[in-house]
Amino acid sequence: MALNSKIPAGKLSEKWTNYKATQNLVSPANKRKMEVIVVGTGLAGAAAAASLGELGFNVKVFCIQDSPRRAHSIAAQGGINAAKNYPNDGDSVFRLFQDTIKGGDFRAREANVYRLSEVSNLIIDQCVAQGVPFAREYSGLLDNRSFGGALVSRTFYARGQTGQQLLLGAYGALSKEIHKGSVQMFTRREMLDLVLVDGRARGIITRNLLTGEIEKHAAHCVIVATGGYGNVYFLSTNAMASNGSAVWQCFKRGAFFANPCFVQIHPTCIPVHGDYQSKLTLMSESLRNDGRIWVPKRKEDAEKLRKKLLRPADLQENDRDYYLERRYPAYGNLTPRDVASRAAKERCDAGYGVGERGLAVYLDFASAIRRLGKEIIAARYGNLFQMYEKITDENPYQTPMMIYPAIHYTMGGLWVDYELQTTIPGLFAAGEANFSDHGANRLGASALMQGLADGYFVLPYTVQNYLADQIEVGHISTESVEFESAAQKVKERINKLLSCKGSHVVDYFHKKLGMTMWNDVGMSRNKAGLERAIADINALKTEFWNSVKVGGKSEGMNTELEKALRVADFLELGELMAIDALHRKESCGGHFREESQTTEGEALRRDDAFMYVAAYECKETKDNHADYVLHKEALAFEDVEVKMRNYASVED
Ligand SMILES: Cc1cc2nc3c(=O)[nH]c(=O)nc-3n(C[C@H](O)[C@H](O)[C@H](O)COP(=O)(O)OP(=O)(O)OC[C@H]3O[C@@H](n4cnc5c(N)ncnc54)[C@H](O)[C@@H]3O)c2cc1C
Repeated sequence: MALNSKIPAGKLSEKWTNYKATQNLVSPANKRKMEVIVVGTGLAGAAAAASLGELGFNVKVFCIQDSPRRAHSIAAQGGINAAKNYPNDGDSVFRLFQDTIKGGDFRAREANVYRLSEVSNLIIDQCVAQGVPFAREYSGLLDNRSFGGALVSRTFYARGQTGQQLLLGAYGALSKEIHKGSVQMFTRREMLDLVLVDGRARGIITRNLLTGEIEKHAAHCVIVATGGYGNVYFLSTNAMASNGSAVWQCFKRGAFFANPCFVQIHPTCIPVHGDYQSKLTLMSESLRNDGRIWVPKRKEDAEKLRKKLLRPADLQENDRDYYLERRYPAYGNLTPRDVASRAAKERCDAGYGVGERGLAVYLDFASAIRRLGKEIIAARYGNLFQMYEKITDENPYQTPMMIYPAIHYTMGGLWVDYELQTTIPGLFAAGEANFSDHGANRLGASALMQGLADGYFVLPYTVQNYLADQIEVGHISTESVEFESAAQKVKERINKLLSCKGSHVVDYFHKKLGMTMWNDVGMSRNKAGLERAIADINALKTEFWNSVKVGGKSEGMNTELEKALRVADFLELGELMAIDALHRKESCGGHFREESQTTEGEALRRDDAFMYVAAYECKETKDNHADYVLHKEALAFEDVEVKMRNYASVED
C-alpha cells in the first residue's frame, strides 16, 4: 500500500487556507445524525470533542480516569509555544516552523509543521477567551519565556502548571457541550479494540473499569487521542495510567505505526534514587531559562561531591564545567533536549557525574538569584522548587538541583496524513498518539501546542470533510458480526490472562522490559544492543504469557488486570521500537546510533539513506504471529534548507 500524505497543492503558507476553503461540509441537519467517538480527554481529545460537539455532531468521549481533568496533560508544567512575537524579538510563523523542523532533525513533514505554526497563535487567543490565566507582565501583556532550540521567547505559561490550566479551559468547553447534550462522557472506560466494518473504523470495544463489563460503541468515525507510550520504559515522567494499548490495537487492525523508535529523553528530571521507584519526576525545561548546568572540571572533585566530602558551593567558578555553554555557546543551556541529554550522559559516563550514583549533573540558580533576587525566581518557578524540595529534601534556593535525563515523550505514533487520518479510513489520531509534527525530537512546549492545534483547529475541518460522504450511511448498529467478534476477542484475551495462574506479578515483567528498553533502546543505541533487546523482549513475551499472575476476576474493578493488558501490549510495542531503531542506521534527534556519530561525538544524520518516515504495517502470519512490514514516506524539504544541526553558533 502506497502512503498518501494528502498534502494540498500550493505554496506552503497557503495550503491550509486552501484546504479549508475547499473542504466538504456537512449541513447542520445532517451533523445531528452523525456520531463521532473520541478516545481520550487530554488536551487533544478534550479539545476535539468540545469542538466537534459545538459544531453539532453527536460525540461520545471516553477516558480511563474518573474525570477528564485527570488526563496526563494536567502534568504539563513549563508552557505552550506560539509565534505571537509579543516580545518583539524576531519571531514569526516561519521561524517557529523552521525551529520545529530543525529541532526535529529534518524528520517531520513540512506541510503539517507549517500548519501547526500557523494555528499556534489562534490557540493562545482561544485559551485566553476561555479564561486560562497565562502569566502576564507588569504592562498586562501576556508574558513569554524561552525553551530549548529557539533563540526567541515564545513560550506562554501559567507558572509551572500550564497543562493544568489549559486542561481546565478545555474541560470547561467540554462540560458546556456535555450539558447541552452534544457530547456524552464515558469515564472509567478503557478502549481495548477498534471495530472495522467494510474496512472503515466504525466503533470501539471498551472495558468498564468499575464493573468489568465489555461494551460496544459505534460511530461514523473514531478519533484516538490516547497520549504517548513512554511508559514502555517502566520508569518515565508520564502518568502511571499512560499506555500504548489503544494505538497498538489500532495498529493490529491495520493502522500504520510511524517512527516507533523516536522517543524523547528529557534532560532535567530528578535522578532515579532506588530500585523500588515506579515513577520519575520532571523538572520543567523552563528552569533552563535561569538555571545553569554544570559538573566539576576535575574527577577528584566529582568523587568528593559524590561522597559528600565537598558541597557544590565549595567549588569556585573556575573549577566548574558549564559544559552546555562550553560546547554550544549560541544556545548554551537552551540547547534542544536530545542534545542536552546526550551531553549530560557523556559527562557522567566520563566520570564527572555527581549524586550518590554519579548519575546526575547540577542545575544551579545561584547566579540568577544574585542577578534577579529570590522573589523573582520564586514567582517564576516557586511550585517547581517546592516540588523538588518535597521529593529530595534539599532546598534549591540554597543548593543546586541535581538532574539526569529520563524518558518523557514519544514522537512516534500512529501514522497520519495531512488530515490526521490514519491508514484506516475513518480512524483519526491526535496529540501525542500520532507521529505528525515533531520528527526525531520535539522542542519543549510544542506538545501542548500540537495537541490543542489538532483538537481545536484541525480535526473540526478534516473530520467534517471525511463525514461529508458518509451522510447516507445512517445509524451504525453494534449488533453486527464485526462488533460481536471484536468483543469476543477481548473477552478471550482477558480470560487467557486470568487463567495463566503464573508466579510473577505484572510489574516484574514491566520492570524487566523497562530495563532492557533503557539499556539497549535508550539514550544511545548500537546494533549488538538492539539485537539483544529484540531477543530479550521476545523471550520475555513468552515468559509473560506462560507465567504472569493476575489476581482477581474479570468482573468488577481489577487494576492488576488493567496493568496486565497494557504490559502485554508494551511488550509487543517495545519489540517494534527496537526493530525500528535497528533498521535506522543513522543518528537523528533522540535516536542516537553509536555507529553514526561525528568525530566530536555529535549525532550524524544520513539523509541520503534515511530521509523518510518509517511506517510499519502489522500483518498476521499463518501461525498467528505478527509480521511487521516497513513502508517509507519520503520527506521533501522545499522551504527550509536541510543542514546538519548546529547549536554552537547561529550561522545556520
Ligand atoms: C511531567 C510532564 C510535563 C510536561 N510539560 C509539558 C510542557 O510544559 N509543554 C508541553 O508542550 N508539553 C509538555 N509535556 C508533554 C505533554 O504534556 C503531553 O505530550 C500532552 O499533554 C499529551 O496530551 P494528549 O492529549 O495527547 O494525551 P494525554 O494527556 O496523555 O491524554 C490521554 C487521554 O487518553 C485516555 N486514554 C489513554 N488510553 C486509553 C484507552 N485505552 N481507553 C480510553 N482512554 C484512554 C486517558 O484517560 C487520557 O484522557 C509534559 C509531559 C510530562 C510528562
